[in-house]
Amino acid sequence: MAFKTLRLILGDQLNINHSWFSNTDENVFYLMAELRQETDYVKHHIQKVVAFFLSMRNFSSDLKAKNHNVIYFEISDENNPHDLEKLISQIIEKHEIAKFEYQLPDEYRLDEQLKAICEKLKIASEVYDSEHFYTSRLELKDFFDGKKMLLMENFYRMMRKKHDVLMRGETPVGNQWNFDHDNRLKYKGQVPIPDAKIFTKNVTDLLIQIEKSEVKTFGKIDEKNFVWPTSREECLEQLQYFCNSLLKHFGDYEDASHNDEKFLFHSRLSFAMNTKMLSPKEVVDTVVDYYFEHEDDITISQVEGFVRQILGWREYVRGIYWKEMPNYSKMNALENHNKLPDFYWTGNTKMNCMQKAISQSLEEAYAHHIQRLMIIGNFSLLTQMHPDEVDTWYLGVYIDAIEWVELPNTRGMSQYADGGILATKPYVSSGSYINKMSNYCTSCHYSVKDKFGEKACPFNTLYWNFLDEKKEYFAKNQRMAMMMNMLKKMDPEELYKIKVKANEIIDNLDNY
Ligand code: FAD
Ligand code: SF4
Repeated sequence: MAFKTLRLILGDQLNINHSWFSNTDENVFYLMAELRQETDYVKHHIQKVVAFFLSMRNFSSDLKAKNHNVIYFEISDENNPHDLEKLISQIIEKHEIAKFEYQLPDEYRLDEQLKAICEKLKIASEVYDSEHFYTSRLELKDFFDGKKMLLMENFYRMMRKKHDVLMRGETPVGNQWNFDHDNRLKYKGQVPIPDAKIFTKNVTDLLIQIEKSEVKTFGKIDEKNFVWPTSREECLEQLQYFCNSLLKHFGDYEDASHNDEKFLFHSRLSFAMNTKMLSPKEVVDTVVDYYFEHEDDITISQVEGFVRQILGWREYVRGIYWKEMPNYSKMNALENHNKLPDFYWTGNTKMNCMQKAISQSLEEAYAHHIQRLMIIGNFSLLTQMHPDEVDTWYLGVYIDAIEWVELPNTRGMSQYADGGILATKPYVSSGSYINKMSNYCTSCHYSVKDKFGEKACPFNTLYWNFLDEKKEYFAKNQRMAMMMNMLKKMDPEELYKIKVKANEIIDNLDNY
């Protein structure tokens, strides 16, 4: 009897260049399934579920076109067991499989589950690298071994040198490692923003299947006009579009937000990379090559800003995840316990910045980095939301949200719940930062200049209240010293009024 192998492909392992696929073998079976355990571990945005299923189906078609054996379960298939362990055991038995293989999952949850499944199996099993990231799971841990501070900048410089990206010998291109200071322009229509690249698809049939299976989702979707790239070809097109149309101003407006511009110059490539339809190396190499071919037209600060996000931040947060899990997911260093208000699911708030960022998240399953960090994340931290609540929302709402990247960004960078493992100070600000980097405040019900009173910008009131409530925690944080000194100098009566107002806001968030 032939020796048969079963290879599992998870929904975020759509890497067609993986060495698994370099040969075809009639005794190797690839297993893919749309499982309820994956649709239900958190309530997801409907566009996220659709994007994953479509991408998985396209990937399975690509494999079949290359003559690989694929066993595929759709969400509404009657014989779909909807549970990974049952699924693997059933297929092993049915096809008389002699060996089970899988690629290292990126989520701790699935890593543990697959290890446990393999222990129970009566056949041999083997795990392979996913051949996606620049770094191995523990490379960051080893790099920072014995160091007190896990500074992203140090990791990023090592990565630039090690992978020879934007380097001339030992010197960084442009003679500077980091052009962050050039990446802080407010967008005031200085240059036109090209239309977002969209891939129009009718997803009505898939939506019927999802509905029939009673998968609970939230958010909006235009069933006749689904826009996200869900095949390797579309992802490559999206990458090319970024180079041709957006890279030129990416860095300049990286930190900006705008009332009428949902995407600005952002690439919208996170879903393509997080599902592994594109590799980070091919994205970085394509963008860097494009820059060298267009050096007269594109400045180094645009391309360095982009490379830093992928070679730096993306690999860095993954390394933190694997260094700190499983404890990381339970951390709540600031002991915050509040519940998210209803408007996180409706966008129904008078705060214009929050209304825009949340409504966009619900409509597009996407918000750019500054909306995630300095608008929604900032507000969640200032109102002292429980990090579990914040994580659940972020993990569900964004098309690119997978725990390995969502958790360090949300719990760490944005909520400081890890006590400063990832960020040296909390990302909190009053309304003045939002006003400096966007035009949200000009059309807001609230006045960004006021700290108390009926029309005071809630960010202002909440900011000073937050600093006061957490002053003992941050007493020894040098990076907070200036703000803490300002707090100390504040007129006690003014501070009292601010705190009364802040508590009133926190107790009645849905009225704001
Ligand atoms: P661009 O602005 O075009 O950036 C290019 C690429 O850089 C992105 O596609 C992404 O792959 C990478 N990148 C940029 N910043 C980060 C970062 N901080 N961490 C990891 N990669 C980064 N990103 C996710 O992929 N999934 C998430 O669930 C997620 N949750 C986040 C939650 C919070 C609170 C914050 C502050 C950030 C989060 N990010 C997450 C990071 C970042 O906001 C998104 O990667 C980015 O907005 C995706 O849009 P884009 O592809 O247009 O990015
Ligand atoms: Fe947001 Fe305050 Fe500006 Fe309104 S005034 S948009 S609430 S920062």
